[in-house]
Amino acid sequence: MPGTTPPPTAEDRLSALLDAAVDAIVLIDPRGRISRFNRAAERLFGYVAAEVLGQNVSMLMPEPYHGEHDSYLERYSATHRPRIIGIGREVVARRKDGSTFPIDLSVGEFRRPAAEGEELSGDGGEHGFVGILRDITARKLQEQQLRDSAEELRQAFGEAEDLRARLTHAGRLGTLGEMVSGIAHEVNQPLTAIANYASACKRLLLSGRAQPQEIAEVLDKISVQAERAGQVIRGLRKLARREDRAADRLDVNQLVGEVARLVEFEFRNAGWQLRQSLAPELPPVSGDGVQVQQVVLNLLRNAVEAMSEGNTCGDAVALRTQAHDGWVEISVDDCGPGIPAATAQRLFEPFFTTKPQGMGLGLSICQSIISAHGGELKHEPRQGGGSRFRIRLPAEGNTQ
Ligand code: ADP
Repeated sequence: MPGTTPPPTAEDRLSALLDAAVDAIVLIDPRGRISRFNRAAERLFGYVAAEVLGQNVSMLMPEPYHGEHDSYLERYSATHRPRIIGIGREVVARRKDGSTFPIDLSVGEFRRPAAEGEELSGDGGEHGFVGILRDITARKLQEQQLRDSAEELRQAFGEAEDLRARLTHAGRLGTLGEMVSGIAHEVNQPLTAIANYASACKRLLLSGRAQPQEIAEVLDKISVQAERAGQVIRGLRKLARREDRAADRLDVNQLVGEVARLVEFEFRNAGWQLRQSLAPELPPVSGDGVQVQQVVLNLLRNAVEAMSEGNTCGDAVALRTQAHDGWVEISVDDCGPGIPAATAQRLFEPFFTTKPQGMGLGLSICQSIISAHGGELKHEPRQGGGSRFRIRLPAEGNTQ
């Protein structure tokens, strides 16, 4: 009858079902020839079904799979090994245009049960394998990105560890101020003893009754005490010295950036911001990186302490680097109460402090470090309130 369509056959229904599947489905016979290739497979590989039907499925594989697949199937038919049936193997597939991509491949084996006495031909879709394939390019990319991020994290962690190790040493320099006063005390004791023994010796000599043996004993005591003082001083020098003290070529921005990362947390905790503005392409300077970092660290900590005492012009400390005329400059601007003229004059004096718990050694040590590098450390009032500390270091090649 015109206009009427025949009812769908089982074959039509199966095709519709396969073509509706989101994943690519490829059926092969036991010899590896493709017997079905659904729409999703067409999209995935760039072939139309007619181009692949009856062809060896190895056409969808790059080498070495392409060359090995036939013997692989033969081995499986004979021994059922290697196991090819299963969910989700990651393999590589090849598109019509030759490009390759990773897929997740699940393989099932189908076999129509034979009727009694019937010999299944193996062809005609009665026995074979069904492969369900999914492109996992995006997933692999994500995995790679995750691995890259993990690697970056590991590296960053390594750098942080390295910085921590170096700043542990720097930390010892940082508490040098406190140690100096303890050590001054320790040196004072033998010096007082020496002074006392010396006067005793003098009294003995002036009395005219001194036995040489007696005087020798007192002089021995003086030597012991002098040796003790010497030991203390040697200990102090060892503490301040880094064994590998040779001048390094320093990237000031990198050093400053590392310190900034270190104090970021302290700043955030105190409710202040740290604004960095690092000039690109600074020339290198020569010196001891840890010491320069220690100076910057001290200035930043002074800035935070000052702002917590009184906040005049905002909530940020500006950390800047710039280069001019053969010098590299690092400046720290805070919004604290600023420094009165009388204080400003004594700022770099050892033991000058206005803080109840202060040692007053930070700035004097900072200044000696910077002078030892051929540079200078200065203070000036900041426009609009607060203080500015400026470090100037000679750029490499600047003979001043
Ligand atoms: P300390 O911090 O132990 O007092 P310093 O040598 O670092 O030792 O500082 C000496 C003094 O200089 C401080 O007590 C403080 O009065 C003053 N000072 C240092 N930095 C600042 C600053 N950014 N703002 C205001 N005063 C400061």
